[in-house]
Amino acid sequence: MPLTANDPKRKTWLETPPNTDFPIQNIPFGVFLTRDDIITIGTRIGDYAIDLGALHQLGYFEGIELTDDLFLQDTLNDFISDGQKTWRLVRNRISDIFLIDNASLRDHSEHRKQVLFTMDEVEMQLPVLVGDYTDFYASKEHATNVGSLFRDPENALLPNWLRLPVGYHGRSSSIIPSGTPIRRPFGQTKPGEDGVPGFGPSKLIDFELEMAYITTDANQLGKRVSVKDAKDYIFGLVLFNDWSARDIQAWEYVPLGPFLGKSFASTISPWIVTLDALDGFRVDGPTQDPAPLPYLAQGGRENFDIKLEVAIQPENSEETVVATSNFKYMYWSMAQQLAHHTVNGCNVQSGDMMGSGTISGPTKEEYGSMLELTWRGQNPIKLKDGSQRKFINDNDTVVMRAHCENDEIRLGFGDCIGKVLPALPFAEEN
Ligand code: MN
Repeated sequence: MPLTANDPKRKTWLETPPNTDFPIQNIPFGVFLTRDDIITIGTRIGDYAIDLGALHQLGYFEGIELTDDLFLQDTLNDFISDGQKTWRLVRNRISDIFLIDNASLRDHSEHRKQVLFTMDEVEMQLPVLVGDYTDFYASKEHATNVGSLFRDPENALLPNWLRLPVGYHGRSSSIIPSGTPIRRPFGQTKPGEDGVPGFGPSKLIDFELEMAYITTDANQLGKRVSVKDAKDYIFGLVLFNDWSARDIQAWEYVPLGPFLGKSFASTISPWIVTLDALDGFRVDGPTQDPAPLPYLAQGGRENFDIKLEVAIQPENSEETVVATSNFKYMYWSMAQQLAHHTVNGCNVQSGDMMGSGTISGPTKEEYGSMLELTWRGQNPIKLKDGSQRKFINDNDTVVMRAHCENDEIRLGFGDCIGKVLPALPFAEEN
């Protein structure tokens, strides 16, 4: 099916700000609460949130086979479960409805009132109920930096790293939409000389700059998804801040991997940008040497040129961009990750979320975590207000952004924002 919605020549009758992340070529999917406290599935063009439940009730999806209540839900899981053909029909139709010379909704003020909201009238929710969340570790630069910091620069990559996309199963209950503040977590830290572990608020709160992809039902238990077919099961992507407490992580992670140092919160941008919308931004990934085993071999362009940035904004102060990176640096592609995830027959379901792992690039400005940017605190970063950061302070807001751009169009993900609040003291909990 042609992706007519991607046509860069398309223009919309809605007013959109210049350089918006959400031109008519984007058409992302999300869930929001309206001014009347109604929860609905929607999309966004410019600074307008568009109620797909209302559009459906008013007949604008006529001719596409959809259940009546498909968009009147508080998650996208059922819509995603309907599969790629439905996503494409719906996304193309939305684009048609808002095309500059389509008068059907444009000139129907009553319908417009029911369908259109400005972004300040709605409250974004989590777009999916995340059943399972897996976090990969797929950036070679990041894995090399972390291996150098914690082990040995000569043998930074463990022997398995170049052979398979390393991952672990994360916690989905604490995945939160952009804007939700987080509490600095308490936890155990490495013992001092007396052998007793420390216990208190983490002193080393960090961000991890990641993208995450949302899947549809990909395979039944016992079956596999091939690298070649993987793209058909990836609905879309969000920006992802995998908050990490480095001191808690360092003490607890042996031998089974990350646990409470990661599970206290993970922030996602609320609009899922479809893989289809990103199709024009496919690029080749890095050369893989040694060549992957045949089940991980890929032919086509499976990486995506998505420009990334992270900023820190202290309270009552302006932000400072502390890192820029690019999703194209990923060593193991999403397609390889999904093929590997299912090669043992593990079933992947609608609404599952797969984090890329921290996306670090080759230069020091492109490191995707404070751990790397400050080299474990050795080289603090100076912010515009004159203060310094080794890690994230209380009341700092971390802002992540992502966009794609070529000669014809620019589209992006919107902000992925989280503020770190001071730890909750034990006494106040009762
Ligand atoms: Mn991570």
